[in-house]
Amino acid sequence: MIHAMNGIVIAIDGFSSCGKSTFAKQIAKKLGYLYIDSGAMYRAVTLEFIRRNIISKNKVDETQIPEILSSINIGFHFNPDKKAYETTLNGEVVEEDIRSPKVADKVSLVAAIPLVREKMVEQQQKLGENKSIVMDGRDIGTVVFPNAELKIFMTADPVIRAQRRLKELNAKGISITLDEVLKNIEERDYIDQNREVAPLRKAPDAVVLDNSHMTVDEQMEWVNSLVTERTR
Ligand code: C5P
Repeated sequence: MIHAMNGIVIAIDGFSSCGKSTFAKQIAKKLGYLYIDSGAMYRAVTLEFIRRNIISKNKVDETQIPEILSSINIGFHFNPDKKAYETTLNGEVVEEDIRSPKVADKVSLVAAIPLVREKMVEQQQKLGENKSIVMDGRDIGTVVFPNAELKIFMTADPVIRAQRRLKELNAKGISITLDEVLKNIEERDYIDQNREVAPLRKAPDAVVLDNSHMTVDEQMEWVNSLVTERTR
């Protein structure tokens, strides 16, 4: 058990399918903190754009974005049966839909749009006002919470990431090949690192965690002393 004295902000950034959310959830659970999956928020916006038919090929009809963003309501609702938080979009649980390859395919495109980022960052900062929060994403330590007490930058070998993701998708009955998953991961990494607004970068004061060959327990052991030190 990790003993936290003062509530802090823990920012976890890194590449796609690095196991950020599994790791972040575990930390939040141990500390009794709020966990926010910022990627789920970008995924929910993407789902709404797909439903409203404003994405065609690799172009988003930007004229409709302000209206959609002002009417959209993204939340997290606790499901007692699953003992997990689920993402909601205008009150509807969309946890499964936002994880579909259809959404994964377009989310980095949508997340590169400045107006979308502005709106999401505003909501994320509000969620962190009271600290005692673990948030994972791509720009949490650099843009959303530049003063976070603990910043972790996660990375892992792309093939290992694709294998882990494939296992998850197959378990959900989604049929997809390792090559397709790897291609999506590499494309997302590229767009995330090269976009103009809030590109994926390691914050200078972030601690790097390469979990290619680590179990979740090993990662928790690794983070233990860091948390103790930063909450003192
Ligand atoms: O973390 P996850 O893979 O679910 O995030 C989906 C996508 O959302 C990422 O590929 C990235 O393009 C975008 N994202 C982002 N900034 C964040 C979190 C996610 O741009 N803070």
